[in-house]
Amino acid sequence: MNNLKAVTEVLLNSKRPILCGHVMPDGDSLGSVLALGMALQAKGKEVTMVSSDPLPDLYEFLPGIKEIVVGSVPEKNYDLLVVVDCSVRERLGSTITPLVDYGLPVVVIDHHVNDQPFGSYNYVKSTAAATGEIIMDLLEQLGISLNLDLAINLYTAIVTDTGSFRYENTTPETHVKIAKLLECGVPVSLLSNLIFGEQPLKSIRLLEVALRNLDVSECGRIAWISINQEKIESVGAEDQHIEGLINYPRKIKGVELAISFRELDQNRVKVSFRSKYTVDVNLLAKKFGGGGHVRASGCTIKGNLLEVKEAVLKEAKELFRGC
Ligand code: AMP
Ligand code: MN
Ligand code: MN
Repeated sequence: MNNLKAVTEVLLNSKRPILCGHVMPDGDSLGSVLALGMALQAKGKEVTMVSSDPLPDLYEFLPGIKEIVVGSVPEKNYDLLVVVDCSVRERLGSTITPLVDYGLPVVVIDHHVNDQPFGSYNYVKSTAAATGEIIMDLLEQLGISLNLDLAINLYTAIVTDTGSFRYENTTPETHVKIAKLLECGVPVSLLSNLIFGEQPLKSIRLLEVALRNLDVSECGRIAWISINQEKIESVGAEDQHIEGLINYPRKIKGVELAISFRELDQNRVKVSFRSKYTVDVNLLAKKFGGGGHVRASGCTIKGNLLEVKEAVLKEAKELFRGC
């Protein structure tokens, strides 16, 4: 079943839904949770919104963000778990996964490439640039009119996942939807500055460290950065400051595939992939147990930084016939 009407019915029949996105939350995940949460509140539901991981300071301007409970899940008699922008159970985070294990029905609303969504009810549209686009369609089904708070959350969801409408996932439908949001008065240049125009000093310091560890393959088609725990700690940075670093290897002229390696601990490395025109990085991440989209994907791999880099670069270079 991949039917938005059916998912709408399930949402309407629920009384006490709990909503979440994915670990290391991004603009799409947070904006989508908040917009859907507000809509379900307007429908008289007792809504709880949660995040396993801390919320990046960057998103503190999102209307309603303080309502998201971070960390442990409040004990309540939930009747439905609504997951947005998350294609695999493992990315719900340790505090939320038990809800699925205890048998709570799950609705998944998502735009990742995924032929086996884990929900009891699923709506997956991989051609949507952001889950926020799907939430806009859902609001229409729910009979909810847009307002400025909803629009700011939805605009943020879409503008972040499309990299300001520059990525390949941007469609005419994206722009039609954005036009509707702008009609609600979204302050575009203010949001653009808050999201893309400024960064905490820690992020810039981390960038300095990361750029010293930037490598390019002999053929010039693959570029990567690696960051270990020590370097992150040396500038006092956290997860939230790492977001976006992969855009630097991606920016290099001639590079098709950008990779970032980030040491989580001695035995786990988070790997992110981005491509420009040809490489299907969803397939590449899948080889290591992850996934995502054709031009942006990720995975977490067991092993130390050196081992993981070697294994991933070997696989990556094969895509370019040895490179
Ligand atoms: P990131 O590199 O973390 O920004 O992720 C890029 C894209 O890949 C996002 O759409 C993520 O949702 C997806 N992704 C990242 N890690 C994983 C994973 N372990 N499994 C499935 N999808 C992932
Ligand atoms: Mn996301
Ligand atoms: Mn997304």
